[in-house]
Amino acid sequence: KVRVRFAPSPTGPLHIGGVRTALFNYLFAKKHGGTFILRIEDTDSTRFVSNAEEYINESLAWLGLTVDEGVKEGGPFGPYKQSERKAIYKQYANLLLERGWAYYAFDTPEQLDALRAQCEAEKRTFAYDISTRTSLCNSLSLGDEETQRRISAGEPYVIRFKMPENVLVKASDLVRGDVTFNTNTLDDKVLYKSADELPTYHLANIVDDHLMEITHVIRGEEWLPSVPLHVMLYRAFGWEETMPQFAHLPLILKPSGKGKLSKRDGDKDGFPVFPLEYTSPEGEVASGYRESGYFPEAVINLLALLGWNPGTEQEIFSVEQLAEIFTIERVNKSGARFDPEKAKWFNHQYLIQKSDAQLAALFMPLLEQKGIAVDSQKLQTIVGLVKERVNFVSELWEQTHFFFEAPTAYDDKVVQKRWKDGVPAFMLQLADLLNEQPDWTVEALKHAASELISSNGQNFGNIMNALRLALVGGSFGPDLFTIVELLGKDETIKRIRAAVE
Ligand code: GLU
Repeated sequence: KVRVRFAPSPTGPLHIGGVRTALFNYLFAKKHGGTFILRIEDTDSTRFVSNAEEYINESLAWLGLTVDEGVKEGGPFGPYKQSERKAIYKQYANLLLERGWAYYAFDTPEQLDALRAQCEAEKRTFAYDISTRTSLCNSLSLGDEETQRRISAGEPYVIRFKMPENVLVKASDLVRGDVTFNTNTLDDKVLYKSADELPTYHLANIVDDHLMEITHVIRGEEWLPSVPLHVMLYRAFGWEETMPQFAHLPLILKPSGKGKLSKRDGDKDGFPVFPLEYTSPEGEVASGYRESGYFPEAVINLLALLGWNPGTEQEIFSVEQLAEIFTIERVNKSGARFDPEKAKWFNHQYLIQKSDAQLAALFMPLLEQKGIAVDSQKLQTIVGLVKERVNFVSELWEQTHFFFEAPTAYDDKVVQKRWKDGVPAFMLQLADLLNEQPDWTVEALKHAASELISSNGQNFGNIMNALRLALVGGSFGPDLFTIVELLGKDETIKRIRAAVE
């Protein structure tokens, strides 16, 4: 039975890379009728951000990525927040100590920094490993008695993994294939710190994946270098048999293709990198997909195709379809370039799929904010005329404002070109003609106007452009007589007369 987890650290707002990880886990769980778990990895007290967990929950909820087991949902393997599992990790760190897979170390951060600096000066890199551990301040060099004395005296310590010497280990990754590594290339990572009685990421992550019976670890490529240590931890605990399978997702790259898309990319280039708007504790605001007018379905769709491909040309998928066809085999090895224009294109695709009634309902509040009241039936017609031209509901205003407001200025270029000689006088004649029309429909109006234009020897094209200028203020907008029909008799005539004055 498939059990996967999304395991964010609440160190700030989740960015779209994190959301993509959540999505792929979710899809994999759905595909296999499995369980999607949300585990909060809050063991790094120095990087903890108080509103981050809430932000994660809200983001997943907005996208419809329903969690099966988690902090809020509960479940048989809880608690799902690591800070509430402190005692468990201590117990497992002790187990490794007992079995000789770990040791106590007392080196202070200052001592380690000094060693690093010294090595750097000698153009070497410092590693706390088999080559150095015996000369450092730890239970291996101090012996049991001294170690116990220091612990009893309350001296702060860490517990380090004792990486065995010269063992060849194979690790498999469902995306990247097999890699073999030699343990000599690995150092003795800290697993636990007495100072805050908290495990490090590595220990907590392995213990929880085991206890929560995780079958597949699907996460970002930045965690690939941790795999050798993780495999060794499974071995040390004797859990290798039930070790989860790993799948590391390719990086999401900047639009330029150069380098990883980071939390700092985005706003300056006009696109969001966060699902929801985020205000940092310092008061800085970063824009979000939700507030920028993206539909959650569009975000799901665009993220699914960042690092995964369906093997066909199809690009538009609902989350249900994705869950049916998603496979890890089709996750790409190479980085996926994020394309902000393509992101907008996805939103457009979902926008035009909506009915005119749905779009009108989404647009109505924006109009109300501007103090504009409009009949919903009429708004549906208006929205239907222009929806092909917009990517976001908010852009509807730009395309339709002239339906609600008379022009306050006229495009100078159009005025120069179209509004000359006898045109203003003729426009008044046209207004009078329209005023007498009993049948206010596109066809009838067009017919009547054409007759007047030809009997007066006017140029049809020029008058149409002049009429458009009078009604909308420029040379934009949908079909002219449709605008006339929707504006209605009084408003049309008022605008023509105002333009002549
Ligand atoms: N807490 C880690 C993170 O923030 C989890 C990595 C993993 O999935 O193992 O991404």
